[in-house]
Amino acid sequence: VNCSPPTAVANVSQYACQRRTTTENHNKIFTDVMEELAESSEFNESKGPCLAFRQAASVLKSLPSAVHCLKAIQGLPCLGEHTKAVMEEILTFGRSFKVEEIRCDERYQALKLFTSVFGVGPKTAEKWYRRGLRSLQEILTEPNIQLNRMQRAGFLYYSDISKAVSKAEAKAVGCIIEETVHWIAPDAILALTGGFRRGKEYGHDVDFLLTMPEMGKEEGLLLHVIDRLKDQGILLYCDYQGSTFDVSKLPSCRFEDMDCFQKCFLILRLEQGQVEGERGLQRDPGDSRGWRAVRVDLVAPPVDRYAFALLGWTGSRQFGRDLRTFAQKERQMLLDNHALYDKTKKLCLLATTEEDIFAHLGLEYVEPWQRNA
Ligand code: ATP
Ligand code: MN
Ligand code: MN
Repeated sequence: VNCSPPTAVANVSQYACQRRTTTENHNKIFTDVMEELAESSEFNESKGPCLAFRQAASVLKSLPSAVHCLKAIQGLPCLGEHTKAVMEEILTFGRSFKVEEIRCDERYQALKLFTSVFGVGPKTAEKWYRRGLRSLQEILTEPNIQLNRMQRAGFLYYSDISKAVSKAEAKAVGCIIEETVHWIAPDAILALTGGFRRGKEYGHDVDFLLTMPEMGKEEGLLLHVIDRLKDQGILLYCDYQGSTFDVSKLPSCRFEDMDCFQKCFLILRLEQGQVEGERGLQRDPGDSRGWRAVRVDLVAPPVDRYAFALLGWTGSRQFGRDLRTFAQKERQMLLDNHALYDKTKKLCLLATTEEDIFAHLGLEYVEPWQRNA
């Protein structure tokens, strides 16, 4: 095996926003394991190791070819001793004993199962685990558990929502949203965001951004869209959150990827007949219902915030995280889904496109399909 690092591997940046990461992952055998280790650390509230494993996975995803020996990763950023030890195990034995141990762990299994329900986060999952609950059936039959509305929908549509959404299904959802939005406001601006904008073949939901060309006109838009989806009989669940966006409070100092725009987390009913390639097909008789539930996110920022929201909601999560870290550490700027603030000049930088934001940050533009960090 030739162990010299390919020249393209030299000079890999520690920041995902300075790497180009397509959906083609040559190092899936490593990154799947890293992501499981990250998740397990997250369940143990070990933030440092969790972030380290996610960063390591992200660097490996950006490589142009598969890693065949440890020498080939010499000089790469974000790969710590722990990560290298795991990679060595995989290279030697074709598997990681550490991760296999975790997979067998009762607590890990339960938390993974519980958090796979829409509306259930690590805290709730932990609470259920501590009460001795281990299966979804046990949760549904336990008399003292109060599920909130989101969790009830999560259980009700569990099998559909935990099934990946295909590109064809995302496209069909896009047609419905587009028709609905433009029926209400013909000049509304609508964009696909999230994983499907990055070119992914499958996703856990479909994400959209919508706004109006005139400032303020976006205010009632989302509620209209929700009403119209309800009228069409396809709204299975809706969690609407009104805007708490306040220009006078910019720049925000929060660095999570949450934002204050009006948004809604939906579950829609998608008819199989509306999905390209499924039309007129003889379906599996066990799946003869003819429709499936799909998770959909809609966000409606004011138009002057559109570029920031588009960049944030396109992701990936790791790409966005590194953009914000890069802005702060390398440029003394604060970036979030609302704005970019230059701490040196003490002003907010305007942007109408994502290209503007990259330019303000002194970064080469990275296309959405290269942001799968
Ligand atoms: P998947 O295919 O699994 O859906 P995804 O990349 O589309 O992958 P999402 O969870 O849908 O993942 O999130 C898309 C992007 O939107 C991410 O970059 C994330 O940071 C951002 N995002 C998700 N939820 C919120 C939220 N509540 N507020 C702000 N941004 C969010
Ligand atoms: Mn998504
Ligand atoms: Mn989403």
